[in-house]
Amino acid sequence: MSKSTRRPQQIFTIVMWLLSIIFAGFLIGLGGLIIKDLPQVDRQITVEQFADTKALEAADNSLENQQGALLNLRRNIEDAQEDQRTAREDYQSARASFNNWIKTRNATQSSAQNPEVIARNRTIEELKQDERTAQRDVQDAQTALRNAERELSDIRSARSDIISQARPKYRAAKRAQELRVFLFRLALTLPLLLVAGWLLMIKRKSAYWPLYRGFVLFALFAFFVELVPYLPHYGGYVRYTVGIIMAMIAGHFIIRSMRRYMERKKTEEARSESERRQSIEYETALKKIAAKTCPGCDRSIIQRDGVDTDFCVHCGIRLQEKCGSCGNRNISFHKFCLSCGVASPEPASGP
Ligand SMILES: [Zn+2]
Ligand SMILES: [Zn+2]
Repeated sequence: MSKSTRRPQQIFTIVMWLLSIIFAGFLIGLGGLIIKDLPQVDRQITVEQFADTKALEAADNSLENQQGALLNLRRNIEDAQEDQRTAREDYQSARASFNNWIKTRNATQSSAQNPEVIARNRTIEELKQDERTAQRDVQDAQTALRNAERELSDIRSARSDIISQARPKYRAAKRAQELRVFLFRLALTLPLLLVAGWLLMIKRKSAYWPLYRGFVLFALFAFFVELVPYLPHYGGYVRYTVGIIMAMIAGHFIIRSMRRYMERKKTEEARSESERRQSIEYETALKKIAAKTCPGCDRSIIQRDGVDTDFCVHCGIRLQEKCGSCGNRNISFHKFCLSCGVASPEPASGP
């Protein structure tokens, strides 16, 4: 920023940029909320919605039943194992007491054909039989569980078959939804971009330009950033195509305004020196001189012996002149002499 601009003006420029950015931020936030609250856009689609409903329901039911049956079978096994343990312990303790009894008996009598021995032996045999039965029960229960588990996995694979049949339809619906959401967002953001382009073209000189600029920032953000997560696989084409078109339009306008500028400068340079000097705005002239640029033709100011020349060598406009009162060399666009304060003889027009 040049030294010759008024200080509040410099602050004003910064504040206006802040205003543009804050305004854009609020617009972006509001736009996001509106989009989020729009109905039917982000509805969740599941693959189950596209399956044969009756078959799926039947499969789900038998899956549930089978899981219940499995639970019962597991409990049965636990019970049978408990019975088996008891039968084994009964047998083992009977066997041990029999052995002890036989030992003490052997010490006194030695007849193996004693009816008491035979009766006790039979009891032990019966206990052994009970243990075997309990063991068989456990094995039977385990076989039943294995069969039930096989059946369960059959039901599961049948269910997943039903689901995979629904998958193509599901994918198509998913794609359609993506496309719908994308088109919807495109329909909202593309007009914003067009309005922004229009504002950029015609409102640049408006006093409310900082607000319009905020809107332009918002539109650019909405189109090039917020649209991205909703782009389908070909969505990039849309974004880049619009970007290319925008660059071409911008290029067209820049080239055209450059041409116009060149023509304007040519016609300006054909006019008389004092006329041209009158037509240059005061602030603009001071800014350009501070940047060592001729306010008339925008070319660099030539220096001689380290001092700016009195005239522009390109367009002949007067850059410096002597004060009529004290003889000090002043920039010809200054309104007053910097040494004696006398008003310059030919003050530059403009604010
Ligand atoms: Zn010049
Ligand atoms: Zn003077």
